[in-house]
Amino acid sequence: MVYDTVITDSHVILPRGIVDKNIIIDDGKIVGFTHDLPTCDHKINGNGLISIPGPIDTHVHYGVYSSIDQAAKTESHAAAIGGITTMMRMLRLGTSFQSSLQAQLDAASKTHYVDYTIHASIFSKQQIEEMKYCVEKKITSFKIYMNLGGDVGHVYMDMPPYTSEIEAETVEVNNQIVEETVKNAASLGCPVLVHAEDYESCACGIKTAKEKNRDGLSAWSESRSPEFEAKAIRTVCKYGRDYGCTLYFVHIGSERALRQIKEEREQGTKIFVETCPHYLTLSYEKQQGYLAKVMPPIRTQKDNEAIWNALSNNTIDTVGTDHVANQLKLKLGGEDVWDALPGFPGIGTVIPILLSEGVNKNRFSLEQLIRFTSLNAAQIFGMYPKKGTLDKGSDADVTMIDLKKENKVSSDLFGGFSDYIVYEGMNLKGWPVKTIVRGHLVAEDFEVVGKLGHGKFVERPVT
Ligand SMILES: [Zn+2]
Repeated sequence: MVYDTVITDSHVILPRGIVDKNIIIDDGKIVGFTHDLPTCDHKINGNGLISIPGPIDTHVHYGVYSSIDQAAKTESHAAAIGGITTMMRMLRLGTSFQSSLQAQLDAASKTHYVDYTIHASIFSKQQIEEMKYCVEKKITSFKIYMNLGGDVGHVYMDMPPYTSEIEAETVEVNNQIVEETVKNAASLGCPVLVHAEDYESCACGIKTAKEKNRDGLSAWSESRSPEFEAKAIRTVCKYGRDYGCTLYFVHIGSERALRQIKEEREQGTKIFVETCPHYLTLSYEKQQGYLAKVMPPIRTQKDNEAIWNALSNNTIDTVGTDHVANQLKLKLGGEDVWDALPGFPGIGTVIPILLSEGVNKNRFSLEQLIRFTSLNAAQIFGMYPKKGTLDKGSDADVTMIDLKKENKVSSDLFGGFSDYIVYEGMNLKGWPVKTIVRGHLVAEDFEVVGKLGHGKFVERPVT
């Protein structure tokens, strides 16, 4: 028998430990491990590198500032260079799913380098009724934005494909919408992703800060206090318990939010927690300017430490990027922190940051790293064992890393839509050097070598 591909000479991280064997790939799947070299069409030399299960970015915004047909190209390019093999898009539609979802899926299907899937955001009663339709389309997770309503209810939706106009909308995600979404998701057997910030409190906080003429990232953090995160967490967890719904808190970055989640877990709420690289590495105490404006805000160095600790003791389950594909002219369009656009790119840097600041600084092990970059996400979101592991039978999504490689971060390294990066100039030790998606080499040494359109939509059953 002639196999498609063999990856030779790498240290393979399996759930049961590290094995030094060749990875045999056929038809995009891992079919076995050997010491000898079977006949094959392609050979990928592992050069003594470490093979980890393809990382899944659980949290990506693209298709908002450029439409998905374009955004898929640029952002999956950045993903591939950053070692990400599956990206999970936070789709936001201002219209109904029945009228607009298929066009989004079609436009995305030809221009990804890596695999992708979708979380559907819910903003209205109509969309709640369409959750079942999403499930039929194999989209089995839903996102709610508790930060959007009242004076702070404006949001940019994803653009219709092949257009170039930004889609501004105003929404009202009140407690009734939140409760109904949670209830419906529970009956469908789907998890709900929660952006936990109480919008009424945030509106009030921003008004007060502006009246006092405050500016800067510290003012931004103060105006959206961690207490407002805790309040939203309390509210939604009550619904989670009432209806038996699994909740997934996105972008948790404050010690206060972690404490609230611990309490809610103790009360029996089914909770998963995601953090982002910026809550590990950035604080308003150190960060200048407005580039690092994000929701929820970056906090203090003490919060950074609390998040690192929560990763090392496994109370955080996943690391997503909250990558926003925007550009400087949009980001810094205004005068002060209040006018700056929140969100920034991060899909290319998540793996190097975790390798450099996490694994190489002994904050957690490689085995832990693969759990919160791949295995846990695959299990939580219905992709396991297709994704999330290098076990026999799973998709051959393999990222090869070099823990000793050093490089400085710069925006043009990744070829994304964005023309800046908050980590510009940061020296990181530990980089992905080969990204393999379903047996095909997609990126190597900061260059994309894969075929546009190789990335496929990952259909997710209800788990
Ligand atoms: Zn987000």
